[in-house]
Order: sequence, then structure tokens, then C-alpha cells
Amino acid sequence: MRAEPAIAILLRALEVAVRPSQVTTADALELVSGPLCGIDPTRLRALGRALRIAARIDDPTITPAPSDELLRDVLRGSRSLPTDEKLVDVCATLQQFMKLMSDAHQMIERGAAPAEVLWLLWSGQCIDRTRAHGWPDRLRRQALDGSRSADHDVDAVMALFDAAERAQQRYRGVIGVRNFVLSLQEQHLAAEPVSERGVQGDVVRVLTAHRAKGQQWDAVWIAGTQEGQWPDLRPRGSVLESDRLMVDGVGPAMSPSALLAEERRLMYVALTRARRQCVITTLQVAEDAGTQPSRFLSELEVPWVHADRRPRFTTSLAALVGKLRLAAIDSSNSPAMRQAAMRTLDELAGAIDDAGLALVPAAASSTWWGMEELSVRETPVRESDEPIRLSGSAIDSIGDCPLKWFLEHDVHAEVPRGEATKFGSVIHAVADFIAKGEVPQDLDAADAFVDRVWRDLRFEAPWQSTAERAIAREAIQRFLNYHQGAQRELVGTEDEYSAQIEVPTPDGGTEQVRLGGFIDRIERDDDGNYVPIDLKNMKTPPAEKEIPEHAQLGVYQLLLREAGYDVGGAALVQLRADEKGSPDFPKVQIQEPLPRESPTWIELKLGDAAQTLRDEAFDARENSLCKFCAYRTSCPTQTQGKQVLS
Ligand code: SF4
Repeated sequence: MRAEPAIAILLRALEVAVRPSQVTTADALELVSGPLCGIDPTRLRALGRALRIAARIDDPTITPAPSDELLRDVLRGSRSLPTDEKLVDVCATLQQFMKLMSDAHQMIERGAAPAEVLWLLWSGQCIDRTRAHGWPDRLRRQALDGSRSADHDVDAVMALFDAAERAQQRYRGVIGVRNFVLSLQEQHLAAEPVSERGVQGDVVRVLTAHRAKGQQWDAVWIAGTQEGQWPDLRPRGSVLESDRLMVDGVGPAMSPSALLAEERRLMYVALTRARRQCVITTLQVAEDAGTQPSRFLSELEVPWVHADRRPRFTTSLAALVGKLRLAAIDSSNSPAMRQAAMRTLDELAGAIDDAGLALVPAAASSTWWGMEELSVRETPVRESDEPIRLSGSAIDSIGDCPLKWFLEHDVHAEVPRGEATKFGSVIHAVADFIAKGEVPQDLDAADAFVDRVWRDLRFEAPWQSTAERAIAREAIQRFLNYHQGAQRELVGTEDEYSAQIEVPTPDGGTEQVRLGGFIDRIERDDDGNYVPIDLKNMKTPPAEKEIPEHAQLGVYQLLLREAGYDVGGAALVQLRADEKGSPDFPKVQIQEPLPRESPTWIELKLGDAAQTLRDEAFDARENSLCKFCAYRTSCPTQTQGKQVLS
């Protein structure tokens, strides 16, 4: 559900309504440009410019923060809206939206249920009965005009309300809304069949046997009745083992014979969905090792119609389009044949349904991969007068492959965080609590803290969870040994630093770069120098030869130097790896202090990265990590990607 665009925006608004003072720049941009506020990109850009001008007037001695940060501050209530006459409309829209969010916040504080707050946000009607937006009316109108996406969005929102109704039976107020948002964000199995609500009229329903329960049709086709697939005798719920949950506790795992009986019952359900006619299709391959019909089919004792070869005609539109495309480009075909194939494709591409929607969109050459001309964006991704924002990790990522970085950060096509990063978050949190004295400096106490959150991490299999849990305990032991035996005085943990600096770029110019980041630990040596420490949970620490120019450490040194401290180097503390000769102590990788003369190596690296971003030179750069890259299938350096792009 959370992936539905309409639901995602309402969940984000709910989250912000719970904690308005912590609204982020991403929240601000998404909400203000989304349907709850509806400020279009042009007006948003004008608003951003006006905010920056106002900030410059407020304090001419500093470069104004980027416009999205200023917008975030407006939503947090720490900055006023500009008074520019040309922006009266956009400011009024934003004020009305802020009123809606403020009303939602007050309702939550007063203990309202998730569904009540959700209704306020969705309807757009503030407590004083003024309207912040007309999203529901707009969607309803579009749905009535035949828009499938609007119809789908309305269904999705209704499903969200169903879920909210159920949630309100448990908690209300801040905890209720928070739990509701969290439960949907963590949802991995579709609890609400959003896409089936809009099914109506004479249509073919494609659904699983489970979903078909309780319904009947005149004619039913059952496909995929192969031995090994149906019955499917693999153990159920190998990760969650949900099949073992009984009314009175956890029962034994299902035996193969019980599984077989359950699959047979499911086949019975499928067969009895038909009122008049039921057609079952299966595949029988001659070889012994080939796929065979399900054993259930012989139990039916009905005569079979055998088709001994592949169907003469293609059985799917996709296959037909594929065949026609092949015929159109095959130079061994006669020109007349190739033209006929193109004509048929054109006819298919022009076929529309009653609502005017294309019936075979895949036949239109405009939808074929690799056919589009490269497009050029007229406006830059980043405002030319705004500094380039960078972090330590970004420098290496941009250097490794600018295209991958662009897809992850500018296109937001990043893949979900894996368990490795969540593991790291848990260890970081424990280390922070120990350092701040909120968890005792004792392995068992710290371990008990980890136990409380560990069950929320989802691993592929129980054995992985067990193995990683043991590694987590070892990592905590190493951290405790490091913390208790530290040679330097601890002066801060998880502190946020930011700075804006000018760096030289490879083309001979300069760029303003805005740096930011949280530093895990800051320690002070006997000479009063500050040393930033980065706690790491890497399975393979970087090679020693990489440490002298490790970008993240370099950026941390720069941040502390810009904050006015003397900096005495930096270090990576590897909590998953032992120090050589000192078991149970973490491996520590030390970086020397930055040279005094500018530009330092890290400023040069920042300049390189900044120019790549400013020039928007997002080339694909093949590297040793390509085999793990999520964008291989659309990358011009990879075989799979070439099929798409050329
Ligand atoms: S596959 Fe390699 S070159 Fe292509 S985007 Fe990914 S990291 Fe870059």
C-alpha cells in the first residue's frame, strides 16, 4: 500500500503532522508540490527565489541557504513568507496548507484517531471550514471522465481509510497515528486488494485461487497446473513461519501430507468457481526431466484434448507485437512483407477502447526501447546560484560512477536499504547511547538493548538473523573495549556539522560547496586537537593505502577545521574487524591531519565532484561494483543495458 502514490503523500502528511518541527526538506518539497497543497514547479521556483532574496536582505553577510531549506523553515514556523506582491496567490495557498497541517497536528495532540486526522488531510477542510485543496473532487471528476489512474487513486485512498478504521480500535493520538504510519511503511504483504476495487462490468479477472474464494463465474480457466507448482509442497512461511501460529500458541510445522491435502482443497476451490465451463491447461514435455501435468489432473478422470505442438498462432499480444517487429526489421524478408508488418503494427497502435485508451500500446514505436532521441533538460538540475551540496560518501560515489549517483540521488531511484545498513544503524545507536551514558558500559546491558530492536530487522532466513546477531554482540564488545580504553577525551557524539567553502574545480574555476554530516564521535587529544571518528560495520574494511585520501574522513576534518577547531587527523573504527594482535579490539585506521596549505587533497576532490554535478556530466563509469549495481539493465556499459539504450 505504501507504494501507492496517493497513499504515500497522505502518509507523509500524517508523519509531518505528528512532528511538524522536524519536517525535512524532502517532506517540504513533496508536500508543497503534491496534491494537498498543489503549488506547481514554476510557482515553487519563484517562491524559492523570493525566500532567498528575503534571507539575503535579513542578513547580507551570509550566503542564503538553498531554497528548499528556506521552504522547510517556513513549514517549521521559523521563517516568514515573502511579502512580494506577485506571490500573493502562492503565499495564500501555502498558508492555507500550513493551516491544514496545524489543524491536523492539534487533532493528534488532542488524541484524535488516525482515520479522523486522515479525513481532515484528505478532505482539505480545516477546522474553521475553509478549504486547503480540492484533491478529492478533482480525482472524482477525473475518474468519472474515465481516468484509470484517478480511479485507482480513489480506490487506494479508500483502502487506506479501511486500514485507518481498523487501527483506531487500538490506539489514538500521537502513538496511534505514529503506529499506523509505521505499520503501513513496514507492510510487505498487500493487506488491502487496492487494484481489485475498481473491477466492474464485462472483464476477464486474473487472480489466484485464494483470491477467487467466495466468487463464481460462468467460465473459468485454470492455468499453470504443473507438477511442482500445483501441488506446491515446499514448506510455507520459511521466514515468518506464520502457518505455525495456532489459537493457543505455536504449533508444529505442516507435514508434507497436510500440505498436499491443503493444495488439493485449493484445487477444489478453483474448479468449483465455474458455473458452466471450466478449462484447465497444462504442459507435458516428453523428456523425463521435463515439466509434467499436476497429479491432480489425473485424479479428475476427465478426457483431455492434446495439442502436440506449439500453437500456430501467438497467444499473447506481446508475442504478436514481437513477431511483427521481427518481421519488420528482418532484411531477409521481402520489402512487401516488411511493410505489411509495419502497417499491422500501426493499426494495432491506433486501436483504442471505449475510453479512448490504447489497446496495444506496445505496438507504438514511440514506446519501444532505444527509439527515443536523447532529451536535453532546459533548466539545470541545480539552481546555478546555489552552492553544490556534498557529503563525504557522495565524493567517492560520484567518482566511482556519476550515472549511478545521479540515478540514486537526483532521480531518487534508489533501492530499499538492505539489512546491512539497518545492522549498522542498530550498532551506531547502541554506541551512541553507551557514549552518552544512557546504556551502561556493560556487554549484557547493551546486548539486552539490541534484543529489543533486533526482532524488527527482517532477514531472509532465521539462520541469517542468528548469525548477524552473534556478530552484533562481538561488534558491541569491540566498541566497549575501544570506548573504555580510548586514549583521547570524548567531546561529542552524533553531532551535526555543516560548512560552506569555496573549492577549485578542474576547469580552473571555483565552486561554492555546502558540506554537511553527522560525526559519530569527536575526541580531543592531549595537544587539544580534535579527531573525528567514524564507526564502521563493514565486512571488508578499505585497504590501508586508501586511508590517506579517504574522502569521508577528509570531509570530517574539513568540517571541524571550518568550525574553528585544530584538527589532529581522523580515524575509521571498524567494529566488525579485530585489530591485528588484539582480539576483541576494533581495527583502527588512522588518517593524518590535512595539510595546512590549500587546496588540500580533499578540496581538490570536492572540486572534481562539484564540477561533475554542475556540468551534469553523469557518465556511466564501469567499475568493480557494476555486478552489484541495480541499474545494470539500463546502463550503456552493460550488455543488458545496451539492449535498452541502443
Ligand atoms: S552498472 Fe556500473 S557503470 Fe553502469 S550505472 Fe551501475 S555502476 Fe555505473
